[in-house]
Amino acid sequence: MTSERLHFISGDHDHQRCMKDAITRAEELCLQQGQRFTALRRRVFSLVWRQHKPIGAYEILEELQRDGRAAPPTVYRALDFLLESGLIHRIASLNAYVACLQPEHRHEGQFFICTSCRAFAELDSSLITTAIEQNARESGFEVQRHTIEIMGLCPQCRLLKENA
Ligand SMILES: [Zn+2]
Ligand SMILES: [Zn+2]
Ligand SMILES: [Zn+2]
Repeated sequence: MTSERLHFISGDHDHQRCMKDAITRAEELCLQQGQRFTALRRRVFSLVWRQHKPIGAYEILEELQRDGRAAPPTVYRALDFLLESGLIHRIASLNAYVACLQPEHRHEGQFFICTSCRAFAELDSSLITTAIEQNARESGFEVQRHTIEIMGLCPQCRLLKENA
């Protein structure tokens, strides 16, 4: 497990390149899963990757309607596909989606989300997962998936606040 996902991504990187690599990796992953990375799936995936911030479902719909492409149910199907493939995660509290930095490695969605700038970092802590599973076992509950959304301030916004 790399530490990459534990950190908030700063703005100063070659994002064009980072997005291109992500699309290539997504294509490969789909191929491995025997799935097709269709034009619409690619378009939706690119939108989610456009910034390292959650993008709202409505924003995605709006963008695609501007293109004159795809009715809402088709877009939601593409989003479901990306979710199931592990390429993106859903942030329920924001009704938004984020790109996964390590889709090759299956994991639950555990996030720190900045309430000020909406930057996010994934944590994927096995301690949390174990605690959930143990509590579930004790209460006879079967966990199908879990997503944890922790709201707060990212390092940059904390600095801004301290210096204000
Ligand atoms: Zn980037
Ligand atoms: Zn992820
Ligand atoms: Zn922030």
